[in-house]
Parts: sequence; C-alpha cells; structure tokens
Amino acid sequence: MPIQQITPEDVVQQCAVCSATNRIPLHKIMAGALAGVQADDRVMPMPACRCGAVEFLIRSMGNERALVGPGTSTHLHRLLVDHLHDVVAQRDVPPQGTSAATKLQGGAPVAALVSPAELARWFPAGLTMPESLVAPTHPRKESPS
Ligand SMILES: [Zn+2]
Repeated sequence: MPIQQITPEDVVQQCAVCSATNRIPLHKIMAGALAGVQADDRVMPMPACRCGAVEFLIRSMGNERALVGPGTSTHLHRLLVDHLHDVVAQRDVPPQGTSAATKLQGGAPVAALVSPAELARWFPAGLTMPESLVAPTHPRKESPS
C-alpha cells in the first residue's frame, strides 16, 4: 500500500496484501482512469500486483495535508501521493481539455500543486520515505532483480 519512493521513471510501492515491493512505471499510472471509465480525477488506480491486488491512490483535497502532523508518515505519504498526482495529471494533458490536468492548470483546481519547496523541505534527500517511518511490520528485503 504505501509508496516508498518516487523516481523520475517509476514509483516503488509495497503491496498491502502480499507485501511484495513493486516498481510501477509512471506511464502506467493515470489519474481518473479506471478501465476506460472516467472516475474521480483525484483517484489513481495502480496496476494490479502479481497477487491480483489493485490499489487506489487518492489525492488529498485542499488543505488536507496541513491537517495531519507535519513530518509524520501520514503527512509524508500524502505529500508523495499528491506529488505523484501532480506529475501524472500534468503529463496527461488531453487535446479536449477535460482531464484532471486541465482542471489543475485552469478552471476549477483539484488542489494546489505540491510546491518544489515543500518537497525539498520534507524530502531533502529525494522522494523516498525515511526508513524510520516505514511501517516495521515487514522486514525490508531487497528482492534480487
Ligand atoms: Zn500483492
């Protein structure tokens, strides 16, 4: 479930069901897309894990981020999800102008973009969840790849 890292190419996410660590290329993630159906623009369905689990990341609304304890795992995870949504929604600017991206850039915004300054403040070493905040329920192992 939790995102562990965002790189320029992919997202590292741990499956909530089988605990597998998955690297998901950014191009496989789309905001508001669900099997061809237009869903809520804030929802990002993630590709199914090999165990079959499908997870949904949901961008926070308005100032939701400000309501959780600064620096907590919840806060940092929300920052990652919101930033991922910014990246995905801005990339997928459609010709017809009806997607989340357009709404983010003009019209009725879904939410304010996560600023580079905010990211830099909370993730000075890159967009990775600090080891100390990652849930200790599963020992972290690097899977050979
Ligand atoms: Zn899984």
